[in-house]
Amino acid sequence: MRITCPFCGERELGEFTYLGDAKPVRPAADAGEDVVYDYVYLRDNIAGVMSENWYHGGGCRAWLKVTRNTLTHEISAVEAAAGAGARQASK
Ligand SMILES: [Zn+2]
Repeated sequence: MRITCPFCGERELGEFTYLGDAKPVRPAADAGEDVVYDYVYLRDNIAGVMSENWYHGGGCRAWLKVTRNTLTHEISAVEAAAGAGARQASK
């Protein structure tokens, strides 16, 4: 599998680290215990297209949001994740 980094171009998988589902959003500081438990421990096991966080540690060290089919490994989109590097990618 190869990933096309928006900053570095197409690179081999070994340069990246998988960081999991990109959809969960950190709850507010005053959210209840059940909401925090769900955020920390519960994830969907999606068989199909999902958004994932990947880290390009062997390249630009940017956090990326990769849309990938977990059954075929086909990647349909790669974009900079919110945070470090996101402003650079939007130029
Ligand atoms: Zn990169």
